[in-house]
Amino acid sequence: MQGTFLGGAGEVGRLGLVLGRAGSRLLLDYGLAPEDPPQYPKPAPPVSAALVTHAHLDHAGMMPAIAHESPAPIYGSGPTLDTAELLCQDCLKVHRIEGYGTPYKDVAVDQMAADARPIRMRSPFTVEDWEIQAENAGHIPGSCMYRLQAGGSSLMFTGDLNTTESQLVDPAEPIACDTLIMEGTYAGREHPPRRQTENEFTQAVRATVEAGGTCVIPAFAVGRTQEVLLVLDEMDIDRPVYIDGMGARVTELFLRHPYFLKDADRLERVYNDAHRIRGHRMRQQATEPGNIVVTTSGMVEGGPVITHLKHTHDDPNNSVLLTGYQVEGTGGRRLLDEHRVDLDGEVVNVNATVDHFDFSGHAGHSELVDFAEGCRPETIVLCHSDEPELLVDDLESVAERVIAPNTGEVFTVP
Ligand SMILES: [Zn+2]
Repeated sequence: MQGTFLGGAGEVGRLGLVLGRAGSRLLLDYGLAPEDPPQYPKPAPPVSAALVTHAHLDHAGMMPAIAHESPAPIYGSGPTLDTAELLCQDCLKVHRIEGYGTPYKDVAVDQMAADARPIRMRSPFTVEDWEIQAENAGHIPGSCMYRLQAGGSSLMFTGDLNTTESQLVDPAEPIACDTLIMEGTYAGREHPPRRQTENEFTQAVRATVEAGGTCVIPAFAVGRTQEVLLVLDEMDIDRPVYIDGMGARVTELFLRHPYFLKDADRLERVYNDAHRIRGHRMRQQATEPGNIVVTTSGMVEGGPVITHLKHTHDDPNNSVLLTGYQVEGTGGRRLLDEHRVDLDGEVVNVNATVDHFDFSGHAGHSELVDFAEGCRPETIVLCHSDEPELLVDDLESVAERVIAPNTGEVFTVP
């Protein structure tokens, strides 16, 4: 079997992998890096089918290009396919607003939806002579790893994976395979225990609202908004929770696929109990003292969070609680490092408390090593990592061969 990364080897973002054997080719994930300017993977060759692990743009954002240029069935879970369609439409909108060219036309997103083939977890299907099975990846609702069998050997592609217990989805379990192609986003970095993060987060929320302040919680739309709502629900605190931005629509999409959620009834209840912000007046009311606002964008890069920060940044009684990794150069990173924020072109000092909580959906370094050990592979191929070399030593005690190919390099596995 031969593989070539089209992007996402030795870097986080724009992941795409072509696997080929005996004249048959599959594409696994095909994403873009939503940076300034956006970064794209190499063009994909014609393939027999595409498999998408989850909806995030760095894994699914270029799937419409495939649908448009050389159509093939696109397999993914129901939540992945529905959410990817929404995110790709939004991505085109953002590219136009920011003045970047678009990587495909709107019609390509419709074509992707037409080519979509929803799969069921742990239910084998075949593409030519590949036998394929999706396994839970524990990253966001609907995220899966693909285990492929062909010619007597097995291979697993993890996409993004998480083995930590979260409130929203069950954690990933190791699956035996000959070759493991795994992500390494957190190579060299560990997460604090999840319970500790939840406790520190809820203490910070409680301290703010009980002192009469407003809590603004920037959260990614896909996965994090829902996780935060569930953590807030455990607090048993009688304060209004508002939800703003795309996170609300994504929650509704997820609720259409209850099988992929740990406790769909609970998510539905907390979502219905929250106030979904509709319109300018409601957005004004949301930041009244004692309220909690969960809003996009998670890295404070535009979206309704900017309006909420206009209303709250000046008052030291308020707090801004960041719930995701803040990439260098983003508004969230500036908030953390400089206590300043760009409010529609005007950079202002922030007097509200700013704090960060690690609710990552990725396995940390030790968890990646433990996961790999549980899969008992002969070969490990590392990808989706800025520093894959930090994992190589530990993984060499797990597998006979560990490689981290460059983008465009052809590698061979059994
Ligand atoms: Zn992801």
